[in-house]
Amino acid sequence: MDELRGILYVVGIGPGAEAHTTPAALRAIADAELVVGYTTYIKLVRHLTEGKEIIKTGMTEEIDRARAAVERAKAGGKVALISSGDPGVYGMAGLVFQVLKEMGWKRGDSPELRIIPGMTALNSCSSLVGAPLVHDFCSISLSDLLTPWPVIARRIDAAAGADFVIGLYNPASGRRTRQIVEAQAIIRKYREGTTPVALVKSAYRKLENAVLTDVDHFLEYEIGMLTTVLVGSSQTFVYEGYMVTPRGYTNKYEWDGTVREGQRPGFSLVLPRDGADPDPAALAPSRLGLAAELHVVPTAAADILEEEE
Ligand code: SAH
Repeated sequence: MDELRGILYVVGIGPGAEAHTTPAALRAIADAELVVGYTTYIKLVRHLTEGKEIIKTGMTEEIDRARAAVERAKAGGKVALISSGDPGVYGMAGLVFQVLKEMGWKRGDSPELRIIPGMTALNSCSSLVGAPLVHDFCSISLSDLLTPWPVIARRIDAAAGADFVIGLYNPASGRRTRQIVEAQAIIRKYREGTTPVALVKSAYRKLENAVLTDVDHFLEYEIGMLTTVLVGSSQTFVYEGYMVTPRGYTNKYEWDGTVREGQRPGFSLVLPRDGADPDPAALAPSRLGLAAELHVVPTAAADILEEEE
Protein backbone atom coordinates (compact mmCIF):
# COMPACT_ATOMS: atom_id res chain seq x y z
CA MET A 1 0.00 0.00 0.00
CA ASP A 2 1.12 3.51 -0.74
CA GLU A 3 2.93 4.81 2.33
CA LEU A 4 1.71 8.26 1.62
CA ARG A 5 -1.95 7.36 1.74
CA GLY A 6 -3.46 9.91 4.12
CA ILE A 7 -6.80 9.86 5.87
CA LEU A 8 -9.51 12.45 5.54
CA TYR A 9 -12.04 12.26 8.34
CA VAL A 10 -15.19 14.20 7.53
CA VAL A 11 -16.55 14.57 11.01
CA GLY A 12 -19.94 15.59 12.34
CA ILE A 13 -19.57 16.90 15.89
CA GLY A 14 -23.29 17.05 16.68
CA PRO A 15 -25.01 20.16 18.03
CA GLY A 16 -22.26 21.42 20.31
CA ALA A 17 -21.89 19.86 23.74
CA GLU A 18 -19.40 17.02 23.89
CA ALA A 19 -21.90 14.64 25.47
CA HIS A 20 -23.70 14.74 22.15
CA THR A 21 -20.62 14.12 20.03
CA THR A 22 -20.09 10.46 19.24
CA PRO A 23 -17.03 8.60 20.56
CA ALA A 24 -16.13 7.88 16.92
CA ALA A 25 -16.08 11.60 16.14
CA LEU A 26 -13.93 12.32 19.20
CA ARG A 27 -11.51 9.55 18.19
CA ALA A 28 -11.25 10.90 14.66
CA ILE A 29 -10.39 14.37 15.94
CA ALA A 30 -7.89 12.88 18.39
CA ASP A 31 -6.24 10.92 15.58
CA ALA A 32 -5.91 13.90 13.24
CA GLU A 33 -2.79 16.04 13.08
CA LEU A 34 -4.64 18.82 11.25
CA VAL A 35 -8.15 20.00 12.12
CA VAL A 36 -10.00 22.13 9.61
CA GLY A 37 -13.31 23.90 10.15
CA TYR A 38 -15.40 26.99 10.50
CA THR A 39 -14.20 29.07 13.46
CA THR A 40 -17.30 28.45 15.63
CA TYR A 41 -17.01 24.67 15.31
CA ILE A 42 -13.27 24.68 15.97
CA LYS A 43 -14.07 26.59 19.17
CA LEU A 44 -16.60 23.96 20.19
CA VAL A 45 -13.90 21.27 20.09
CA ARG A 46 -10.90 23.35 21.14
CA HIS A 47 -10.25 21.16 24.20
CA LEU A 48 -9.61 18.26 21.80
CA THR A 49 -7.27 20.08 19.49
CA GLU A 50 -4.39 21.07 21.74
CA GLY A 51 -1.07 20.66 20.01
CA LYS A 52 -2.67 20.13 16.64
CA GLU A 53 -2.41 22.30 13.60
CA ILE A 54 -5.65 24.17 12.96
CA ILE A 55 -7.05 25.80 9.85
CA LYS A 56 -10.08 27.93 10.66
CA THR A 57 -11.85 30.03 8.14
CA GLY A 58 -14.99 32.08 7.87
CA MET A 59 -18.30 30.89 6.57
CA THR A 60 -17.86 31.82 2.91
CA GLU A 61 -14.51 30.12 2.48
CA GLU A 62 -15.90 26.62 2.42
CA ILE A 63 -14.39 25.66 -0.91
CA ASP A 64 -10.92 26.70 0.26
CA ARG A 65 -11.39 24.81 3.49
CA ALA A 66 -12.48 21.61 1.73
CA ARG A 67 -9.66 21.89 -0.78
CA ALA A 68 -7.03 22.50 1.90
CA ALA A 69 -8.24 19.49 3.86
CA VAL A 70 -8.30 17.21 0.83
CA GLU A 71 -4.87 18.30 -0.36
CA ARG A 72 -3.17 17.78 2.97
CA ALA A 73 -4.74 14.36 3.37
CA LYS A 74 -3.86 13.42 -0.19
CA ALA A 75 -0.23 14.23 0.58
CA GLY A 76 -0.29 11.70 3.43
CA GLY A 77 -1.65 13.69 6.37
CA LYS A 78 -4.35 12.72 8.82
CA VAL A 79 -6.92 15.45 8.58
CA ALA A 80 -10.25 16.02 10.33
CA LEU A 81 -12.61 18.33 8.48
CA ILE A 82 -15.36 19.17 10.89
CA SER A 83 -19.00 20.12 10.38
CA SER A 84 -21.58 20.88 13.01
CA GLY A 85 -24.37 18.32 13.28
CA ASP A 86 -23.96 15.72 10.56
CA PRO A 87 -21.44 16.35 7.76
CA GLY A 88 -23.86 14.86 5.24
CA VAL A 89 -26.75 17.18 6.13
CA TYR A 90 -26.05 20.64 4.69
CA GLY A 91 -22.47 19.89 5.73
CA MET A 92 -19.01 19.60 4.22
CA ALA A 93 -19.27 16.03 2.92
CA GLY A 94 -20.83 17.06 -0.39
CA LEU A 95 -18.19 19.64 -1.11
CA VAL A 96 -15.44 17.13 -0.28
CA PHE A 97 -16.75 14.82 -2.99
CA GLN A 98 -16.92 17.68 -5.48
CA VAL A 99 -13.28 18.57 -4.76
CA LEU A 100 -12.25 14.90 -5.05
CA LYS A 101 -14.15 14.53 -8.31
CA GLU A 102 -12.49 17.58 -9.75
CA MET A 103 -9.11 16.06 -8.82
CA GLY A 104 -9.95 12.76 -10.50
CA TRP A 105 -9.67 10.86 -7.16
CA LYS A 106 -10.65 7.17 -7.24
CA ARG A 107 -11.46 4.75 -4.41
CA GLY A 108 -8.17 3.30 -3.19
CA ASP A 109 -6.28 6.55 -3.95
CA SER A 110 -4.99 8.81 -1.24
CA PRO A 111 -6.69 10.04 0.85
CA GLU A 112 -8.75 7.31 2.43
CA LEU A 113 -12.13 8.81 3.26
CA ARG A 114 -13.87 8.24 6.58
CA ILE A 115 -17.19 9.98 6.99
CA ILE A 116 -18.19 10.10 10.65
CA PRO A 117 -21.89 10.80 11.26
CA GLY A 118 -23.15 13.24 13.84
CA MET A 119 -26.48 14.17 15.34
CA THR A 120 -28.10 16.65 12.96
CA ALA A 121 -29.90 19.78 14.20
CA LEU A 122 -33.30 18.21 13.54
CA ASN A 123 -32.52 15.50 16.10
CA SER A 124 -31.06 17.76 18.75
CA CYS A 125 -33.71 20.45 18.31
CA SER A 126 -36.64 18.04 18.31
CA SER A 127 -35.42 16.45 21.54
CA LEU A 128 -35.58 19.83 23.27
CA VAL A 129 -39.22 20.46 22.40
CA GLY A 130 -40.79 17.00 22.64
CA ALA A 131 -41.44 14.61 19.78
CA PRO A 132 -42.34 16.66 16.71
CA LEU A 133 -40.73 14.38 14.09
CA VAL A 134 -42.40 11.09 14.96
CA HIS A 135 -44.34 11.10 11.70
CA ASP A 136 -43.16 11.98 8.18
CA PHE A 137 -41.08 15.12 8.01
CA CYS A 138 -38.80 16.85 5.59
CA SER A 139 -36.06 19.41 5.91
CA ILE A 140 -35.61 22.48 3.78
CA SER A 141 -32.79 25.00 3.94
CA LEU A 142 -33.95 28.57 3.44
CA SER A 143 -30.51 29.73 2.35
CA ASP A 144 -30.77 31.10 -1.17
CA LEU A 145 -27.06 31.83 -1.37
CA LEU A 146 -26.53 28.64 -3.38
CA THR A 147 -30.08 27.64 -4.36
CA PRO A 148 -32.50 29.93 -6.26
CA TRP A 149 -35.39 31.16 -4.10
CA PRO A 150 -38.15 29.94 -6.51
CA VAL A 151 -36.82 26.38 -6.11
CA ILE A 152 -36.90 26.68 -2.32
CA ALA A 153 -40.38 28.25 -2.38
CA ARG A 154 -41.69 25.39 -4.53
CA ARG A 155 -40.31 22.85 -2.06
CA ILE A 156 -41.91 24.60 0.90
CA ASP A 157 -45.19 24.66 -0.98
CA ALA A 158 -44.98 20.95 -1.82
CA ALA A 159 -44.01 19.95 1.73
CA ALA A 160 -46.72 22.06 3.30
CA GLY A 161 -49.28 20.80 0.77
CA ALA A 162 -48.39 17.18 1.50
CA ASP A 163 -48.78 17.75 5.26
CA PHE A 164 -45.18 16.99 6.22
CA VAL A 165 -43.75 18.28 9.47
CA ILE A 166 -41.14 20.74 8.14
CA GLY A 167 -37.71 21.45 9.59
CA LEU A 168 -36.26 24.70 8.30
CA TYR A 169 -32.46 24.95 8.43
CA ASN A 170 -30.71 28.29 7.80
CA PRO A 171 -33.96 30.19 8.32
CA ALA A 172 -32.43 33.67 8.45
CA SER A 173 -29.21 35.63 8.91
CA GLY A 174 -28.32 39.27 9.43
CA ARG A 175 -28.71 39.98 5.73
CA ARG A 176 -31.22 37.29 4.88
CA THR A 177 -34.55 38.03 6.58
CA ARG A 178 -37.11 37.86 3.77
CA GLN A 179 -37.17 34.08 3.23
CA ILE A 180 -38.67 33.12 6.55
CA VAL A 181 -41.46 35.67 6.06
CA GLU A 182 -42.27 34.22 2.64
CA ALA A 183 -42.03 30.69 4.00
CA GLN A 184 -44.61 31.55 6.68
CA ALA A 185 -47.01 32.87 4.02
CA ILE A 186 -46.66 29.70 1.92
CA ILE A 187 -47.14 27.40 4.91
CA ARG A 188 -50.19 29.40 6.08
CA LYS A 189 -51.97 28.52 2.81
CA TYR A 190 -52.14 24.91 4.02
CA ARG A 191 -51.90 25.00 7.83
CA GLU A 192 -54.12 26.44 10.52
CA GLY A 193 -52.64 29.48 12.22
CA THR A 194 -52.66 27.55 15.49
CA THR A 195 -50.39 24.77 14.16
CA PRO A 196 -47.49 24.39 16.60
CA VAL A 197 -44.10 25.82 15.62
CA ALA A 198 -40.88 25.47 17.64
CA LEU A 199 -37.92 27.80 17.30
CA VAL A 200 -34.79 26.21 18.71
CA LYS A 201 -31.64 28.25 18.95
CA SER A 202 -28.17 26.90 19.77
CA ALA A 203 -29.38 23.48 20.87
CA TYR A 204 -26.98 21.95 23.43
CA ARG A 205 -24.80 25.06 23.39
CA LYS A 206 -24.36 27.82 25.95
CA LEU A 207 -27.05 30.14 24.59
CA GLU A 208 -29.62 27.41 24.02
CA ASN A 209 -33.17 28.69 23.77
CA ALA A 210 -36.39 27.03 22.69
CA VAL A 211 -39.71 28.74 22.03
CA LEU A 212 -42.99 26.99 21.35
CA THR A 213 -45.40 29.14 19.35
CA ASP A 214 -47.60 28.73 16.27
CA VAL A 215 -47.76 29.45 12.55
CA ASP A 216 -49.50 32.80 13.02
CA HIS A 217 -47.08 34.08 15.66
CA PHE A 218 -43.60 32.64 15.14
CA LEU A 219 -42.34 35.64 13.16
CA GLU A 220 -42.70 37.76 16.30
CA TYR A 221 -39.68 35.99 17.82
CA GLU A 222 -35.97 36.24 17.06
CA ILE A 223 -34.91 33.86 14.29
CA GLY A 224 -31.28 33.80 13.16
CA MET A 225 -28.38 31.73 11.85
CA LEU A 226 -28.36 29.48 14.89
CA THR A 227 -32.09 28.75 14.85
CA THR A 228 -33.87 25.71 13.48
CA VAL A 229 -37.60 26.13 12.87
CA LEU A 230 -39.87 23.11 13.31
CA VAL A 231 -43.33 23.50 11.80
CA GLY A 232 -45.94 20.93 12.80
CA SER A 233 -48.21 18.98 10.46
CA SER A 234 -52.00 19.12 10.71
CA GLN A 235 -51.74 16.37 13.36
CA THR A 236 -49.11 17.96 15.61
CA PHE A 237 -50.34 19.02 19.04
CA VAL A 238 -49.00 20.68 22.16
CA TYR A 239 -49.16 18.78 25.42
CA GLU A 240 -47.71 20.13 28.68
CA GLY A 241 -45.50 22.50 26.75
CA TYR A 242 -44.22 19.74 24.47
CA MET A 243 -44.69 19.58 20.70
CA VAL A 244 -45.86 16.14 19.63
CA THR A 245 -46.68 14.58 16.27
CA PRO A 246 -48.50 11.28 16.81
CA ARG A 247 -47.59 8.16 14.91
CA GLY A 248 -51.15 6.94 14.70
CA TYR A 249 -51.06 3.99 17.12
CA THR A 250 -54.49 4.91 18.39
CA ASN A 251 -55.94 4.31 14.93
CA LYS A 252 -55.18 0.64 15.34
CA TYR A 253 -55.00 -0.11 19.04
CA GLU A 254 -56.98 0.68 22.16
CA TRP A 255 -55.04 1.90 25.17
CA ASP A 256 -55.30 -1.50 26.83
CA GLY A 257 -53.35 -2.97 23.91
CA THR A 258 -56.28 -4.68 22.18
CA VAL A 259 -56.62 -4.23 18.46
CA ARG A 260 -59.44 -1.95 17.38
CA GLU A 261 -62.36 -3.51 15.62
CA GLY A 262 -61.73 -4.06 11.92
CA GLN A 263 -57.95 -3.58 12.24
CA ARG A 264 -55.20 -6.20 12.04
CA PRO A 265 -51.66 -5.85 13.42
CA GLY A 266 -49.09 -6.01 10.64
CA PHE A 267 -51.61 -5.06 7.97
CA SER A 268 -52.52 -1.75 6.33
CA LEU A 269 -54.69 0.53 8.38
CA VAL A 270 -58.33 0.06 7.41
CA LEU A 271 -60.41 3.22 7.23
CA PRO A 272 -64.00 2.75 8.36
CA ARG A 273 -66.63 3.34 5.69
CA ASP A 274 -68.99 4.65 8.29
CA GLY A 275 -69.27 4.84 12.05
CA ALA A 276 -66.66 6.29 14.35
CA ASP A 277 -63.84 8.39 12.97
CA PRO A 278 -60.37 7.05 13.61
CA ASP A 279 -57.65 9.39 14.79
CA PRO A 280 -57.61 12.04 12.04
CA ALA A 281 -53.97 11.22 11.19
CA ALA A 282 -55.26 8.40 9.05
CA LEU A 283 -57.64 10.68 7.21
CA ALA A 284 -55.13 13.34 6.27
CA PRO A 285 -54.93 12.15 2.64
CA SER A 286 -58.63 12.77 2.10
CA ARG A 287 -58.30 16.23 3.60
CA LEU A 288 -55.58 16.90 1.07
CA GLY A 289 -57.97 16.18 -1.76
CA LEU A 290 -56.58 12.75 -2.58
CA ALA A 291 -59.08 10.04 -3.38
CA ALA A 292 -59.96 8.35 -0.11
CA GLU A 293 -60.69 5.13 -2.01
CA LEU A 294 -57.02 4.79 -2.78
CA HIS A 295 -56.34 4.33 0.88
CA VAL A 296 -59.25 2.11 1.76
CA VAL A 297 -58.25 -1.52 1.55
CA PRO A 298 -60.97 -3.92 2.72
CA THR A 299 -59.52 -6.38 5.21
CA ALA A 300 -60.06 -9.47 3.06
CA ALA A 301 -58.34 -7.90 0.06
CA ALA A 302 -55.48 -6.76 2.27
CA ASP A 303 -54.93 -10.34 3.39
CA ILE A 304 -54.70 -11.58 -0.17
CA LEU A 305 -52.30 -8.83 -1.20
CA GLU A 306 -50.02 -9.47 1.75
CA GLU A 307 -50.00 -13.21 1.12
CA GLU A 308 -49.12 -12.78 -2.52
CA GLU A 309 -46.16 -10.53 -1.84
N1 SAH B 1 -24.62 20.05 9.27
C1 SAH B 1 -25.52 20.75 10.18
C2 SAH B 1 -26.37 21.80 9.47
C3 SAH B 1 -25.60 22.96 8.91
S1 SAH B 1 -26.62 24.21 8.22
C4 SAH B 1 -26.41 19.72 10.90
O1 SAH B 1 -26.44 18.56 10.50
O2 SAH B 1 -27.07 20.11 11.88
C5 SAH B 1 -26.67 25.37 9.55
C6 SAH B 1 -28.05 25.41 10.18
O3 SAH B 1 -28.22 24.27 10.99
C7 SAH B 1 -28.30 26.58 11.11
O4 SAH B 1 -28.72 27.72 10.38
C8 SAH B 1 -29.43 26.04 11.98
O5 SAH B 1 -30.66 26.11 11.27
C9 SAH B 1 -29.06 24.56 12.09
N2 SAH B 1 -28.29 24.27 13.33
C10 SAH B 1 -27.06 23.74 13.40
N3 SAH B 1 -26.69 23.55 14.68
C11 SAH B 1 -27.74 23.95 15.45
C12 SAH B 1 -27.98 24.00 16.87
N4 SAH B 1 -27.05 23.60 17.73
N5 SAH B 1 -29.18 24.48 17.28
C13 SAH B 1 -30.11 24.89 16.42
N6 SAH B 1 -29.93 24.86 15.08
C14 SAH B 1 -28.76 24.41 14.59
